[in-house]
Amino acid sequence: MTRPKKAPFVFRDPSASMTLRSNVSSFATGLIYLGMIACTYSRKDTTGSVSPMVIDKLVSDLSTDRIRHHSTVADTAGLDAELRIIEAKLGPLEPGIRDHLAVVEVMYFTFADSTMTIIDKVNLHSGALVVHACVADDVKAIFEILRRDTFPIAKVIPINTYGLNADSTGWNDAASMADNNTSAFNYRTKPTSREPSKHGQGIAIDINPVFNPMVRREADGTTVEPPQGRYVPNRPGTLTRANTDEYLRPLGWSWGGRWPKPTDHQHIEKSQGRCEHMQFSLK
Ligand SMILES: [Zn+2]
Repeated sequence: MTRPKKAPFVFRDPSASMTLRSNVSSFATGLIYLGMIACTYSRKDTTGSVSPMVIDKLVSDLSTDRIRHHSTVADTAGLDAELRIIEAKLGPLEPGIRDHLAVVEVMYFTFADSTMTIIDKVNLHSGALVVHACVADDVKAIFEILRRDTFPIAKVIPINTYGLNADSTGWNDAASMADNNTSAFNYRTKPTSREPSKHGQGIAIDINPVFNPMVRREADGTTVEPPQGRYVPNRPGTLTRANTDEYLRPLGWSWGGRWPKPTDHQHIEKSQGRCEHMQFSLK
């Protein structure tokens, strides 16, 4: 069994209100690696109207051996204070999201070389993804399939590590993308409108952005984000219709690489299903 981790400090009152329970996961793939015990922290709401961000769930199936960490739950330390700064710009994040964020520590294979062309199929790496608790199990399942298929992930580092945008309307997604970082929750609007991004709801993940750039074709030219990104479908770490159909559809997720405008190759999101905490409904 995985040793329960210390609660991240974003918990409001760990000593008084946190309980620990362990859930045995049903994923056979995980069993091969670690005996698959997922430790879940939950918190009873014992305070009044004060509403700091609450990470109400920690999903971790990391064994202590043979795993190299790109990031851990401790790297989400800056989220709470910085989220308040973003909320001052964009308005309060709805409680159905804010109070039900989860940290999922995912395991994956990465690259063995600096040019990111050779997959290291020996050493597992791990990183912390911040998502809505509703999709925490989906995210675990997706990364288990990616691991099974030795699909390489360059790195997983929480978005707050990259700092805020200059105008504090979200965390610095441009810096994260340029670093080929895979990330999920980011309270921000869509690049093209004032609509809340699915990342602001914690139900979307951007995977290996340099290999899977967003491409927007307009009459006056084509924009690629990140600018150094290049989409080469047969390159390791690249999302394609074939490799996303298999593992996303059964979970009710969809791939932005199918979108005509922009074609967002890095983006996957929960698009079907229900979540009791959210005010919006998925299709
Ligand atoms: Zn995205």
